[in-house]
Amino acid sequence: MNEISENFDLHDHDHADDGKLPVPNEVQEAIRTLLRWSGDDPAREGLIDTPARVARAWKEYCQGYNEDPAVHLSRQFEEVGGYNEIVLLKDIPFQSHCEHHMAPITGKASIAYLPRERVVGISKLARVLHGFARRLQIQERLTAQVAQCIWDNLDPFGVAVVIEAQHGCMTGRGVKTPGVGMVTSRMMGAFLSDPRSRKEVLSLMGY
Ligand SMILES: [Zn+2]
Repeated sequence: MNEISENFDLHDHDHADDGKLPVPNEVQEAIRTLLRWSGDDPAREGLIDTPARVARAWKEYCQGYNEDPAVHLSRQFEEVGGYNEIVLLKDIPFQSHCEHHMAPITGKASIAYLPRERVVGISKLARVLHGFARRLQIQERLTAQVAQCIWDNLDPFGVAVVIEAQHGCMTGRGVKTPGVGMVTSRMMGAFLSDPRSRKEVLSLMGY
């Protein structure tokens, strides 16, 4: 390891280099090519370790490929004390990346279900969201996948997922419109068929 990368490691909050995921040369080379294409010089000091960092960062952004989000819903509780109203986890912050530009999608999701006889620990809903968000996505599919996963695994009376997000590919390039949010929703079961239930869940979510 050269001196430059040692210096950078100190600033990195990363511990010893041996704990880090090795990055194959061809991956680093691909990022150098992108740096050159963007107009910079991958050989300059500040960019020496960038290809390896970018590669490891992408492994993290895309961690969801290594998991089946449904596993988070496997531990279920049947003892719900007669509770048969909406369970809602509101405004869960998340980050994803769009599959068209690999640009960040940042936003918040509200996830609700109407239990039939089983519930899960409430944080598990956020884990399901992150499992699907940590992949290359489009917001519409992310919304649908989270809803479908809860629907399939909890067998509830209804599922409602609303996602509000900003897209880096829209705020930082193209039409360059910061502050514009995109809202997608997926309603299933009672939230789809019963307008009163839908209205209730949307109002609990703050819409
Ligand atoms: Zn995009």
